[in-house]
Amino acid sequence: MAATEVAQSRRIVTEIPGPKSRAIQERRRSAVAQGVGSVLPVYVERAGGGIVEDVDGNALIDFGSGIAVTNVGNADPRVVERAAEQLGRFTHTCFMVNPYEAYVDVCEALNRITPGDHEKRSILLNSGAEAVENAVKIARSATGRQAVVVFDHAYHGRTNLTMGLTAKNMPYKQGFGPFAGEIHRMPMAYPYRWPTGPDNCGPEAAAMVIEQITKQIGAQNVAAVVIEPIQGEGGFIEPAPGFLPAVVEFCRANGIVFVADEVQTGFARTGHMFASEHEGVVPDLITTAKGIAGGLPLAAVTGRAELMDAVHGGGLGGTYGGNPAACAAALAALSAIEADGLVERARAIGELMLGRLRELAAKHEVIGDVRGRGAMIAIELVQDADRTPAPEALAKVLSFCHSRGLILLSAGTYGNVIRMLPPLVIGDELLHEGLDILEEAFARL
Ligand SMILES: *Cc1c(COP(=O)(O)O)cnc(C)c1O
Repeated sequence: MAATEVAQSRRIVTEIPGPKSRAIQERRRSAVAQGVGSVLPVYVERAGGGIVEDVDGNALIDFGSGIAVTNVGNADPRVVERAAEQLGRFTHTCFMVNPYEAYVDVCEALNRITPGDHEKRSILLNSGAEAVENAVKIARSATGRQAVVVFDHAYHGRTNLTMGLTAKNMPYKQGFGPFAGEIHRMPMAYPYRWPTGPDNCGPEAAAMVIEQITKQIGAQNVAAVVIEPIQGEGGFIEPAPGFLPAVVEFCRANGIVFVADEVQTGFARTGHMFASEHEGVVPDLITTAKGIAGGLPLAAVTGRAELMDAVHGGGLGGTYGGNPAACAAALAALSAIEADGLVERARAIGELMLGRLRELAAKHEVIGDVRGRGAMIAIELVQDADRTPAPEALAKVLSFCHSRGLILLSAGTYGNVIRMLPPLVIGDELLHEGLDILEEAFARL
């Protein structure tokens, strides 16, 4: 792995946030719209590997990766060099005006590494939400149908269509309607909260979904089923075994486009290049973004050639989609994932974290569930044996961890899930140190 300039150790020299961060935060209040929040308002000076350095000279351990984006590490030198080289030649032409090779290279790479060996095509965009929007456009155009099926706890973005696809009202949808039509929500195979227990969850949930689609929408009217193979913002919910394959089989039998939203789970994050691979699922369309380009804004839809090519010329695109610097960064990030063996590294991170978190859960009843795959790990906090969510306990744990310089995020429909998404290049020492801080937070509850 290429050396980063940022020393890979935690260093706390002020309170968190420090005086310089607090001063910028004060200016921010009168400059930045308050609708956009920040989990931990320490203002960043630079970052590398598993460390984020702030303007006060503190070095924090990164268990967030900017929400599963810097999988290859922050400011990976290979990503920086390739993007900088591109920036020095040209910054933008618009692929729809004058194309360039890097866009084609990225599409070839995505077609190669996504699940399934069928003929594929890709389109490049700017954000995960835009990718999901385009997947729906493509599925509707290819099938001539309108209905879109999504799930409880789903998160697909903040544009009008993707807000409609998203499950949680606060903060994502409140006051922002009306939403797009023909969106139908189905139960999710959430093992920890399935009424008849986790073993029945996969088959029962699949049967409910199939029954509801058939009776309430009519399978022949459904353009697409859109699902995260492991739900992200919803609380790192791994669908119970058998659920995804059963839904895919139903889609295949009924001409429904199965869309895997791998925006958060993609690019080695879960110990496979894509989370669909855990159960051998081959999506018809797959949406990607976050981890694709080492931190530069890029997103994609990749899928079956006959679906992707069903859209009329000029029907897809966007001014910035597949920006050349973002494409160059993606090519470097994708080769870094392969060269550094980050799929295997994600698995090792998962084993280390799950092992320690299960020990922790045995000591603290407030930890109701430990779950996740690879470097996408979560703990769900509950108040009692009835699994009443414990968002107050979560707030205390997070605030302690933040004060000690551990960047940690929350998630979940009930606001009671702590999620961990370290960069895949983080060292074991930093992982252990982060988990030590978390352990202390629970001891103090
Ligand atoms: C983050 C996310 C999105 C939205 O991506 P943006 O780049 O923020 O638009 C969509 N789907 C999933 C699963 C995500 O995690």
